[in-house]
Amino acid sequence: MNKPLKQHLIDPEICIRCYTCEMSCPIDAITHDENNVVVDASKCNFCMDCIPVCPTGSIDEWRVVEKPYSLEEQYSWMELPVQQDVGGASENGVEALDDAMAQLLAEAHKGAGGKSRPPASASKPSVNLYNLAKPVVAKVQGNYRLTSENSDTDVRHIILDFGSHPFPVLEGQSIGVIPPGQDANGQPLLPRLYSVSSPRDGERPNYNNVSLTVKREPNGACSNFICDRNIGDELQVTGPFGATFLMPNDPSARLLMICTGTGSAPFRAFTMRRQRASAGATGDMVMFFGARTPDSLPYFGPLKKVPDRILKKHLVFSREPGQDKEYVQDRMRVEEAAISDMIRDPRTHIYICGLRGMEEGVEATFGAIAERAGLSWSTVRDAMREDGRYHVETY
Ligand code: NAP
Repeated sequence: MNKPLKQHLIDPEICIRCYTCEMSCPIDAITHDENNVVVDASKCNFCMDCIPVCPTGSIDEWRVVEKPYSLEEQYSWMELPVQQDVGGASENGVEALDDAMAQLLAEAHKGAGGKSRPPASASKPSVNLYNLAKPVVAKVQGNYRLTSENSDTDVRHIILDFGSHPFPVLEGQSIGVIPPGQDANGQPLLPRLYSVSSPRDGERPNYNNVSLTVKREPNGACSNFICDRNIGDELQVTGPFGATFLMPNDPSARLLMICTGTGSAPFRAFTMRRQRASAGATGDMVMFFGARTPDSLPYFGPLKKVPDRILKKHLVFSREPGQDKEYVQDRMRVEEAAISDMIRDPRTHIYICGLRGMEEGVEATFGAIAERAGLSWSTVRDAMREDGRYHVETY
């Protein structure tokens, strides 16, 4: 089998044929016919000059392939091909494992109700490139404590470097980390899922690395393993996983993000993506983020530095001495006018991520706000879900 290669492609369904990418490519690797704009795999050197200039995000597509798609194949496409399995997923027992991972994510997305759909303008994700039989080895490039040393909560920002192994991820996807050890039946422990907290072009732009936001759980086989790793240590990784909890590329899309604790991971990725790729985005981003105290809120300092014109932040605390307990749904009620405006707007996408327990209160709050606006929340929500604009990931 050939060594898998990462190939740069353009999504013909989203591309508006403005040829800006072709003009910005310094080595003439991008070309077009009357049908499509395409990238020549034999020339592309991944310089990424074309990525920020694309007005639609259609340029930011990647597939891991054994043999690159030819120019002729790309000219004939009406849509991008799905990611083929290049990691040996059909070997014994591995399909079952991928099913188990898919099941885990389906369970996490259950709160969305019905079938989850990706946003219409989201890029097509690569999934299941690496599995338990053939994991990819990543090196720890960074391990920083995000919460104060005084806080009981130890949440860490972990950076993983994939070196020369292709590992394309989109914001909102998860990866599996295989913990060492065995279960009670002597079987190897299954991978644990973590959301990627960096944007698609890497924690550091154009480096093949991703970041995770990991909370050390008492007796957690994988969280303790990860949090104890040093720079240079190796981890076995599976994935990427997840094809619906994705970000719209449409720069006019408005994002309403509600999270608790480490459920903030994908929203860090969403925010960085908007900052890096859609400088002129007209769609606003609003975040309701709940933690016990500022000390235990992941990314408290960096978040506060993101300008309000990019991200309007509502950081709420449930155990701040001297203050009333406040949950995200409490602050949503205070911000009723803004939420009412957003749920009426067909450009709005809602994302809920974190503790499963938050769903009930958040749903009830949406219900009450919608009712006062003369709307039926279940009708609004079901229409948003059908449209790929309502997403839940809770554990
Ligand atoms: P946490 O520290 O236990 O809680 C965060 C905040 O949520 C606290 O202020 C807590 O308040 C509050 N809270 C508790 N019950 C609530 C409710 N019913 N409604 C609203 N707020 C409520 O959170 P965590 O341990 O970081 O957990 C985050 C969750 O996100 C986990 O389930 C994790 O699996 C999931 N997640 C993680 C990732 C990742 O990549 N690491 C990705 C997606 C999701 P009190 O404790 O004061 O009641």
